[in-house]
Amino acid sequence: MEKIKMTTPLVEMDGDEMTRVIWKMIKDELLCPFIDLKTEYYDLGLEYRNKTNDQVTVDSAEATKKYGVAVKCATITPNAARMDEYNLKEMWKSPNGTIRAILDGTVFRAPILVKGIEPYVKNWVKPITIARHAYGDVYKGSEMKIPGPGKVELVYTAEDGSETRELVHNFAGSGIVQGMHNLTSSIESFARSCFNFAVDTKQNLWFATKDTISKKYDHTFKDIFQEIYDTEYKEKFEELGLEYFYTLIDDAVARVIRSNGGYIWACKNYDGDVMSDMLATAYGSLSMMTSVLVSPKGVYEYEAAHGTVQRHYYKHLKGEETSTNSIATIFAWTGALRKRGELDGLPELSAFADKLEKACIDTVESGKMTKDLALITTLEDVTPLNTEGFIKAVRETLEASL
Ligand code: NAD
Repeated sequence: MEKIKMTTPLVEMDGDEMTRVIWKMIKDELLCPFIDLKTEYYDLGLEYRNKTNDQVTVDSAEATKKYGVAVKCATITPNAARMDEYNLKEMWKSPNGTIRAILDGTVFRAPILVKGIEPYVKNWVKPITIARHAYGDVYKGSEMKIPGPGKVELVYTAEDGSETRELVHNFAGSGIVQGMHNLTSSIESFARSCFNFAVDTKQNLWFATKDTISKKYDHTFKDIFQEIYDTEYKEKFEELGLEYFYTLIDDAVARVIRSNGGYIWACKNYDGDVMSDMLATAYGSLSMMTSVLVSPKGVYEYEAAHGTVQRHYYKHLKGEETSTNSIATIFAWTGALRKRGELDGLPELSAFADKLEKACIDTVESGKMTKDLALITTLEDVTPLNTEGFIKAVRETLEASL
């Protein structure tokens, strides 16, 4: 069989620990035998990040801007324990944070649905994709403890020195206060990423804030989304039969629970933080969540939502058997390959991505799965497989379908 040709390289960001082990297995077993794989390789493993003073992370993000599509393996975000473990020069920042800042992107997370891994909410028959605004609000807030009686005000000093004041509270006793901000430019980027991704994946977009209570702060989010929708996306949405739906956050939560899924839910920073964990848990498994960073200019970086599965890696190093689920990492590759296929006009590359995803799902639905899924499945006939065994089983299913 002739291998599928690629014309533009994917930006490949290698990573750490167990996911790095899986990364190579996926390439060897599921990609290279079928595709003439073209990538521009960046090693984001912690050792090499340390060696290059994290320059490799910046370079990989710049390459993503240049080529438009990247696929990323999970990476370690160093903490105190990792400083010793890897003998680091510095506590390097989270690569995801660095890449997100360079691409000015929004992260979209969606569950992979298979029969036998049932969501807690029975009517969620389609995935709900959550988009979290990743800048500002309480995450960049300033706080104070107010020790006793006194006045707290917000003061804006313009460049010409003129002041605008707003009373926060006249404290009669002790209390607490918090100041937070966001930027018009950041909210605009967030909105464009969401509208673009809705058009791209042909899904409705929901957005919600608490604008009835927060008449300037949250209302500005609402207004910016509406303005950008009306002037830049309304026509396209109507052409595709898509809907942009705005409501209050409490109403949104109630509707999400009653819905069948199949839409994108855009959330402010804090709402997205809380709701994405709720959704991941409710859909059944963290190891079945995909994640894609989308820039307002239409640059895409695909990855699994989970981390490096450290515990399994230590077992692997001791030569013990592991049963790590590779599905979300495989879907990161298929997402990136499909997008490359669309951009470069290579339908056979996109079709291969579809077939590989279907092979993963069919394999699980036939009862062959890793232990994390075997523990929660409602299927009766289950064969738990080890890390490599599962990837080989997917290859068999894939080959039968080609
Ligand atoms: P983790 O996602 O690696 O693991 C959390 C739990 O989920 C573990 O109990 C693990 O056994 C289970 N799990 C996750 N993915 C699984 C899979 N594919 N198969 C089977 N079980 C799976 O998160 P963690 O343990 O908190 O973090 C480990 C490392 O990953 C840390 O160094 C952290 O910085 C990094 N991390 C990276 C990313 C990223 O690159 N996107 C995201 C989260 C964490």
